[in-house]
Amino acid sequence: MQTETYYAASARDTAPYPPLTGEISVDIAIIGGGLTGVNAALELTQRGYRVALLEAERIGWGATGRNGGQVTGSLSGDEALTKHLRKTRGSAAEDFVWGLRWRGHEIIRERVARYGIDCDLRHGHLHTAYKPAHMAELRATCDEAQRRGMGDDVALLDTGRVHELLETPLYHGGLLNRRNMHLHTLDLCRGEARAAAGQGAQVFEGSPVTEIIHGQRPVVVTAAGRVNADTVLLAGNAYHRLERSKMAGKLFPASLANLTTKPLPEAEARAINPQNLAVYDTRFILDYYRMTADNRLMFGGGANYSGKASPDIAAELRPSLERTFPRLRGVGIEFAWSGQAGIVPNRVPQLGRLSPNVFYAQGYSGHGIATSHIVAEIMAEAIAGTMERFDIFASVPHLRNPLGERAGQTMLALGMWYYRMREMVG
Ligand SMILES: Cc1cc2nc3c(=O)[nH]c(=O)nc-3n(C[C@H](O)[C@H](O)[C@H](O)COP(=O)(O)OP(=O)(O)OC[C@H]3O[C@@H](n4cnc5c(N)ncnc54)[C@H](O)[C@@H]3O)c2cc1C
Repeated sequence: MQTETYYAASARDTAPYPPLTGEISVDIAIIGGGLTGVNAALELTQRGYRVALLEAERIGWGATGRNGGQVTGSLSGDEALTKHLRKTRGSAAEDFVWGLRWRGHEIIRERVARYGIDCDLRHGHLHTAYKPAHMAELRATCDEAQRRGMGDDVALLDTGRVHELLETPLYHGGLLNRRNMHLHTLDLCRGEARAAAGQGAQVFEGSPVTEIIHGQRPVVVTAAGRVNADTVLLAGNAYHRLERSKMAGKLFPASLANLTTKPLPEAEARAINPQNLAVYDTRFILDYYRMTADNRLMFGGGANYSGKASPDIAAELRPSLERTFPRLRGVGIEFAWSGQAGIVPNRVPQLGRLSPNVFYAQGYSGHGIATSHIVAEIMAEAIAGTMERFDIFASVPHLRNPLGERAGQTMLALGMWYYRMREMVG
């Protein structure tokens, strides 16, 4: 079994970018080459700024190149954000959040088409009810989507219909959503990085930033170079250790696990998931899966909220995989890996500033593919001087763990354990 990710092993664009050497001067320096940093770079170069993007490892190396590839129609933290906004905007809060919800999908579809990014994009997602009582939540989501004009894009399915779409003994119905998508997330990110570079962004890999020197023109420092900029955006998510005095305790890193089987024979792949839907269930700590373009089952689930990766991911996930698809008992698992997601207690993305011209954006709580595209647009807008949407996010209060990172992880692990127990007995 391979420890590298399926995504890295199957990526189409593998050509490296150089490390930063020497001193350069740009308008905007961006730290972190995941979907947030890459899309902010693309947005800003499109607006005519000179941009340098610095990635410690390779573009897409973090959560971006390790995720489940499911592009679902929720902005992470939408409920908490709506509640917060109701205080100042009344009933307009729902419209604002609903509008944002689908913006990420639009941006992704537009980028894939405009830059010809080959990333196995497919439509179709099923949110499955793990228990009969969970159908109420799905029904409410479906009703709202219908009310807002989604028409045939969404449908509530009974148990029988779900079992026509998935060869599984699990679930008590589901919500089918044809607007949601799934894709090869690393190909998407590298395609977007190539597009940014094509428009003039300077992209550097193998360039970990060691320090940000604040000032009228902040400086971003690496081992072999420096970038002088008017503005800096920190987009290192759960992977960076910069600015600890202000950033420590804001994010709760959770290690999420993922795997792919060996390519399945065509007939077997069609039998278990004939419409190649991406799926996740209604539990708090859920299973998520889909087929890859070469007929592997990609299956993720569980989460280690201690922040530490599991020593044997395949062994940990296999029982859930086999419970979901009994015909795959004993199936060969070819890739297994984990990644760090940035969890925020209220799930609202954290957008803010460390000083007047040093911004940060992070924390999508495991729902970052669409959200990162929305956030990148908002950050580019803010850097260009339009603050309205940034200010809305920046005004949301966030819990900061006062106990130090290790104690915070223990608190989070206990909290998650509580939810898991409640679901098992509930
Ligand atoms: C296993 C897993 C499954 C997931 N599944 C889904 C899913 O199916 N759907 C979904 O919507 N979301 C999913 N997510 C969440 C999603 O992947 C993330 O929210 C999203 O990728 C975050 O993007 P990002 O650019 O903010 O952060 P990241 O992709 O983590 O990128 C941060 C980058 O910053 C770099 N960096 C850190 N420090 C420095 C430094 N000092 N100098 C330079 N660079 C630095 C890192 O190397 C890294 O590449 C999942 C996450 C995981 C881990």
